[in-house]
Amino acid sequence: MKIIYTDALVVGAGLAGLRVAIAAKERGLDALVLSLIPAKRSHSAAAQGGMQASLGNTVKGMGDNEDVHFQDTVKGSDWGCDQKVARMFAHCAPKAVRELAHWGVPWSRIQQGGREVIVNAEKVTLEEAKAAHGLINARDFGGTKKWRTCYTADGTGHSLLYAVDNKAISLGIPVHERVEALKIIHDANNAKG
Ligand SMILES: Cc1cc2nc3c(=O)[nH]c(=O)nc-3n(C[C@H](O)[C@H](O)[C@H](O)COP(=O)(O)OP(=O)(O)OC[C@H]3O[C@@H](n4cnc5c(N)ncnc54)[C@H](O)[C@@H]3O)c2cc1C
Repeated sequence: MKIIYTDALVVGAGLAGLRVAIAAKERGLDALVLSLIPAKRSHSAAAQGGMQASLGNTVKGMGDNEDVHFQDTVKGSDWGCDQKVARMFAHCAPKAVRELAHWGVPWSRIQQGGREVIVNAEKVTLEEAKAAHGLINARDFGGTKKWRTCYTADGTGHSLLYAVDNKAISLGIPVHERVEALKIIHDANNAKG
């Protein structure tokens, strides 16, 4: 039997698994990922709507910040979410979106001037400021107070998964594809394999 030693064993090479493996690697740990299917075929590729971050770049996002994002999230969960986790997500999201741009995600960008959108089932023309031209765009998604869903046309999950998988490759993180984790072997509180 071949035994492989690693500091961090990640099961799953979707966006969650790859991102945690990158974080482990960036903190100086060896990370190894197992994936039942090839990383780029993970279900994360199906996500289309986008990713929430309170960048406040668009005219409909003006005045947005992490507090408003946090309140929307708590309200949207009917006060049932883990508020520490929601706070962490709202706080980190703008940095994560910009980091993803740096890793190659082609976020849809704001075009200055008028654009037609649907608000409350009616056509409305929004006027985007010249200063916002080229910044990361956001659309209306999920009943939030401000428009904060960053997106790449209708292929957000696809482009995120490609960028994050490529980042994992560039960091030399081994992803063992078509390998199924069957069981975690424990020795008291330690995972052994
Ligand atoms: C159609 C659709 C649209 C969506 N739209 C959005 C959206 O707009 N915005 C948004 O935020 N979310 C959206 N979601 C949800 C979002 O895509 C998922 O919550 C997210 O991608 C899950 O990521 P993940 O890494 O946890 O799982 P996945 O991407 O499903 O990855 C799971 C990984 O685990 C591996 N695996 C599973 N079992 C084993 C095993 N036993 N051993 C080894 N490996 C294993 C698989 O190979 C795979 O690599 C959407 C989902 C769908 C389906």
